Amino acid sequence: MNAARIAALSRAGVAVEVVPETGSTNADLLARAAQLEAPLLLIAEHQTAGRGRAGRSWLSAPGHSLTFSLAWRFDGGLHALTGLPLAVGVALAETLGRLGQHVQLKWPNDLLKDGDKLAGILVETQPAGGAAWAIVGIGLNLAMPDELEARIGRAVAAVPWLARMDRDTLMAAVLDGLAQALREFGAKGFAAFSARWNLLHAYQGQPVTIIDRGEVLHEGLAAGVDDAGRLLLDTEQGRVRIVAGDVSLRPKNT
Ligand code: ATP
Repeated sequence: MNAARIAALSRAGVAVEVVPETGSTNADLLARAAQLEAPLLLIAEHQTAGRGRAGRSWLSAPGHSLTFSLAWRFDGGLHALTGLPLAVGVALAETLGRLGQHVQLKWPNDLLKDGDKLAGILVETQPAGGAAWAIVGIGLNLAMPDELEARIGRAVAAVPWLARMDRDTLMAAVLDGLAQALREFGAKGFAAFSARWNLLHAYQGQPVTIIDRGEVLHEGLAAGVDDAGRLLLDTEQGRVRIVAGDVSLRPKNT
């Protein structure tokens, strides 16, 4: 991939760097956040130690995925970033939709295609005076070699049609969708995204369980998200609102 070409194809006005290989683009940008003066997109052709939530791993094979992080500065403090990972999911899903790939969202922030995980999002933050840097990390499967799927150990999705698209053009489209969403989030917060999230919700009205380290915390029907990005769950005891934290959602009986 070519950084200058991606920057030229994009309308976002964001600096772009491409490295052949690194451990984690999120870790690299977090380490640089204190020195950054403007948004920066860091793309790794190969990411060897990709991270998910709660210390989980994101696996990828060179040439078969997009692995990148976008550092973005928000004026409010960390509390203003509630719901940001969900807004990023909306932005990525809408961008893929414009490219002809229809995907759904699993709360809080996974992209699914035909029920299997297509992309992971990890947002990490660093305070900067009264402001905050958000490092928005994304791993998106384009193709899925059998060997990689075996290593991941569960059914996963890919978008082979997009894998055939010029990589720099695809990356520029994703960058533009994200930059626009991050600006909107900065101005209006997650309230500007909740209805859009709900339109893309994979499990609307379906029975799900909420799990914390293997323990079932709640069971109920998933009813979308509120303006703070909390999952609305209709349980036998009534509606509960669940904050993302490190809990995971599973469709019931899978
Ligand atoms: P879950 O997907 O189990 O609900 P999560 O949303 O917290 O958990 P993340 O932290 O976003 O998951 O991503 C890490 C998980 O994603 C890993 O535990 C692994 O199961 C899965 N995974 C790792 N690499 C890939 C990949 N390339 N494609 C799809 N899934 C992957």
